[in-house]
Amino acid sequence: MKEIIPEHRSQASTCTPSGPSAKQTKTIICIVCPKGCEAQVLQKEETIEIKGKICKKGREYITQEFVEPMRTLTSTVVVKNSRMKRLPVRTSGPIPKKDLFRAVDVLSPVAVRPPIRIGDVILPDLLGTGIKVIASDDLLE
Ligand code: SF4
Repeated sequence: MKEIIPEHRSQASTCTPSGPSAKQTKTIICIVCPKGCEAQVLQKEETIEIKGKICKKGREYITQEFVEPMRTLTSTVVVKNSRMKRLPVRTSGPIPKKDLFRAVDVLSPVAVRPPIRIGDVILPDLLGTGIKVIASDDLLE
């Protein structure tokens, strides 16, 4: 069973028609800390403007989220020669959100055998991102 970590919060976006002076606005909720501050992000050609009471860390998160959203992938891989059928795995860090489905496709044919320790590398470089896929649990027998 494949699974992708769901987004923590929903995000609403509104767009005006595209064109040379196209503007895009998006509401993004910062998830860096429990306060969950809300920001309005306005894109003006090459620059973005962030409106709302947002701290420095929040600005970094919101800028990243607007420009290139990143997510940590959790999934499972097939286990052979074991009572366990699947081993939970995750990426060692976030990857571009747009690559999540391709990443799941890459994991689909992967099969492992015991013994595996939590943190062991299952794939060394996922989709050329430099991010590893690692075991989220022990698989000892
Ligand atoms: S903007 Fe700052 S205070 Fe608000 S949720 Fe993000 S990190 Fe927390």
